[in-house]
Formats: sequence, structure tokens, C-alpha cells
Amino acid sequence: MADIDSFHFEGAEIAPGTGREVSLELGDGPAGNRRTIPVYIIHGTQPGPVLALTAGIHGDELNGVSVVHHLIHGDDHVAGTEDDRISREELVGTIICIPVVNIEGMLLEQRGAPDNRDINRLFPGKEHGNQSQRIAYALFNSVVKRADFLIDLHSAPLSRTNLPHIRANFDQKECMELARAFGTQIILHSTGPKGSLRRTATKEGIPTILLEAGTAHRFEMEAVHAGIEGVLNVMGHLGMIVRKNRLPAVRLLVRRSKWARAEAGGLLYSLVNVGDHVKKRQVIALVTDPLGEQTHSIESPRTGIVVGLALNPLVRVGDPIANIVLCSAGKWKRAQREFNADDPDEESVDDEESLDDV
Ligand SMILES: [Zn+2]
Repeated sequence: MADIDSFHFEGAEIAPGTGREVSLELGDGPAGNRRTIPVYIIHGTQPGPVLALTAGIHGDELNGVSVVHHLIHGDDHVAGTEDDRISREELVGTIICIPVVNIEGMLLEQRGAPDNRDINRLFPGKEHGNQSQRIAYALFNSVVKRADFLIDLHSAPLSRTNLPHIRANFDQKECMELARAFGTQIILHSTGPKGSLRRTATKEGIPTILLEAGTAHRFEMEAVHAGIEGVLNVMGHLGMIVRKNRLPAVRLLVRRSKWARAEAGGLLYSLVNVGDHVKKRQVIALVTDPLGEQTHSIESPRTGIVVGLALNPLVRVGDPIANIVLCSAGKWKRAQREFNADDPDEESVDDEESLDDV
């Protein structure tokens, strides 16, 4: 039996032990069409935290959209069936799911809103501001302020890809607890750009972490799976679901990391993948002239793991090619193959160039 009242959201009532779709109104579009952000709320039967999941703030970053789909409906995309990962009857607390914040950006297959602004630089938004500021405002006031914790799901932009990893502010204890619970092998430090949802929500007292997984314009199931497992780990950690968390035996806390850059322009042939371990001075990419003849090679500046990688073959001098995080081969093997239920070994990595500079 339910021990709690219904959850009320934008005039809708969500009874304990149920889930339903509601809308966040954004006002009309050019054709007089109603513009909304679809929200799905799962309200449990026991009092507990409110966790918000946001994806698609950047309209072309789709892996997070799929993570939220799977969490609402299970692998068969039908809610209330056996493969559901979250039982509505047993859930403690409430989940507010937003599969796509930037709906119109998604339809245009672009990062920004229709006005080309980056919504993730405009939080907490403005009630009477431009269209992007209003989207940020609606999300921040109706969703973020009602949440106790927030996970924002992203992928790399079109020209790059990322090994699934969490970004969090290492100097915020509550964010780090969420980041550790999520369970990626690598956690990167950054406070987040000014006006980003993560930075603004955390400042407002809602600890927020960000997942970077894969690339844009794709559903990449490996990246999606990392996101699903991570969110469930966090829910287990917060006591919202009963779950035996599986954390990697080793995790790297990366305060700063360094990109290998192209010292010559041309066409790029990458010789590594994200998640690969590379040795210092190992050739990780070739640069060719327009006819395909090799003109340069790019060596890894360090021994470590490829966490980010350029996908666009067109490079100019100074373009980032691979983000490589210092790590020994043995340690990386352990991080990938061994698990520890609650207390993994931790290693701090601090390199000379901050990630936010890329
Ligand atoms: Zn993004």
C-alpha cells in the first residue's frame, strides 16, 4: 500500500505507484502549433528523493534520449511488463524523466534551439527572455527546482566521441557521491560552463552530475547501456530501488587531462578507439594530403586511456585529436574486468591542461 500522496505537476496528478506523461508548456510555434516538452513522471509508493533525468538539451545528442526511454519502458519499450527495470509499485521517491528537452533542436538535427542558441549556457533562464531562455526557465522552475538530485545526459558533439564517463565538480561532496555511485571507470572534474544546467542546478542546491557517452546523431547501445546501469546505480545508492551495485574495481578521478593535438593539417586517419590503452609516443593517427599520402603522424603524448576522440577527418593545426588520461595498462585492465560492490580503489590524475579548454 502507498504511504504517500499523489505527485502534482503542472496541473496533473500522478497517483502513487503509477507513471504518466505530462507536458511542460512553451507557447505556440510558427504554425500556431502548441510547443511542449514531454515529461514522464514515475511516482513511487514510499516517500523518498525526487530524481530528475534530463536528456537532449543539445538536440543532436541522442544516446541520453534512449537511456531515458529504456528506464521508463524497459527494453521492449512497453511500460508495465516484466523487463521493466523500475517497478512502480516498489519505487521509493519519484523520477521526473525528460527524454528530450530541446525538441525543436532535435527535429532540426542540431545542437541549439531554433534560434541557434545553446540552451545549456542559459540557465536558470528568463521568464520573459528570448525563446531559448524561456525553455531554460521552464525546465529550471518546473523540473529542476522540484528535484533533489539531477543527472544530465549528453554525448560528444558530432565531430567527436567519448568513452562513457561522468563529469562532476570534485569540490562538491554531494556531486562526488553521485558520481562515484554512477560507476563509470573515469570521472572527470569540471565545474561546468557558466549557465550550464549542471553548474546552475548544483549552485541552487540540487547536486547534479553529467554523463558524456558516445557521439551525436546516433543510438549507440553500448553507450546507452552504460547510462542505464549508471542511473540505476545512483537510484540504488539513493535508496530508491533495491539493487546490488556493481562498481569497477578501480576508478580514475581526473582533475585535468590533456588532448593530443594535430601539429599539421590534412585528412585524419585515427588508429585507436575510445577505451583503448596507448603507450607514450605510440602513433595514434596519421595525417594525409588530399590524395591520401601520409604527411604526418600523431603520437600519444602519454601512456594512458583514450577517453575522447576526433571523428571528423578534416583537421587543422591545433585541432584536438584524442583526450588521453594517464593510466598504466595493468590498472586499466583491472578497471575494466574486475568489480567491487562498494569500495573501489581510487586514483587521482592531474594533468596540465583542463578539459574545459577544448
Ligand atoms: Zn551536450
